[in-house]
Amino acid sequence: MRLALKTALSRSWRDSDTLQFGTVSRHAGVLAHADRALCDFLGLVDGTRDRPALLAEGERTGFGRGPAGTVLDLLEEAGVLDDAEASDRALARFPQPHRELLGPDLASLSLIHSTPGAAPAVLAHRADRAVEVRGAGRVGAALAAVLAAGGTGAVGVVDSGRVAPGDCSPAGLPAGDVGRLRSTAAREAVDRASARHPARHSRRPRPGLPDLVVLAPRDGSGAFAGGTPQARELLRAGVPHLYVGVVEEFGVVGPLVVPGSSACGHCLVLAREDEDAAWPRILAQLADDGPGRAPAPACDTALATAVAGLAALHVQVFLDGGRPPSVDGWCEISAVDGMPRRLRLKGHPDCGCLWQPVPPH
Ligand SMILES: [Zn+2]
Repeated sequence: MRLALKTALSRSWRDSDTLQFGTVSRHAGVLAHADRALCDFLGLVDGTRDRPALLAEGERTGFGRGPAGTVLDLLEEAGVLDDAEASDRALARFPQPHRELLGPDLASLSLIHSTPGAAPAVLAHRADRAVEVRGAGRVGAALAAVLAAGGTGAVGVVDSGRVAPGDCSPAGLPAGDVGRLRSTAAREAVDRASARHPARHSRRPRPGLPDLVVLAPRDGSGAFAGGTPQARELLRAGVPHLYVGVVEEFGVVGPLVVPGSSACGHCLVLAREDEDAAWPRILAQLADDGPGRAPAPACDTALATAVAGLAALHVQVFLDGGRPPSVDGWCEISAVDGMPRRLRLKGHPDCGCLWQPVPPH
């Protein structure tokens, strides 16, 4: 393990001999009695030496082996040390141009997973994950591109038809793609986001089930897709899935369904039905080619981009082993005021999704 001070942390002086790592004081690491000799020693913690070598350097430079060990312990305790060797190994899993783009992402992970080597382990784990995005409209294409950029190893996009002007956004499909096959255009957006040359680094679909499926139909109905045949199939197969969409002036992220352990999309449909008995009848008319569909659906570009970004963040948190707020809940963002809200979702007693046995994944 070659130790390095985390490059993502700023360094500032709280007073003449107290050094602060990081900007926000409640999260920052602080090193007291930071004199010239200690600062010189910190200069050696640059990712080129392991701990024994740093102790030897401490002795050789006159700083002292004991003080060097104490400083390294304090730095690790403060969460400001990283393992440069593990970082290099994790980044080596990506093509060279993508490695450079991933630098800030890995730096961000190093602040979330603070022990040396933890962040590279999370990035390497992410590189092994596969996500399938169903729907390549203004939300889905942007979401797929963001996931690929962030290091998710395999991002598949499933859609049919050709790119319409309403599918385009700066974060997803460019306006120049209008008229092209949507699946091809979306795959290219994913390749661009991860700096892959399609001819040299073509992404082949991975065999088996993805680790997560995002349901992001272009018309925003993904927000209400609970109980549909594809949702039931994902539940049966034990595949985690996330509902995402923009409906009228509302953006929705969630629920993220972990089959057998969190409330599902059908629970949400049933909860809405409890509030509005006509909801299933309305929903049926919004389904594919239903008579109630809006002739020209609304989709604010900024709202769609915010929804895609928030959904991508929730997917990453989930893939990295966390529990995003869209599990047993969902998040709404309104284009009226831009205010995100989190709403809680309980398993509905009439759904039964939480007592059905989950088949092996
Ligand atoms: Zn359910």
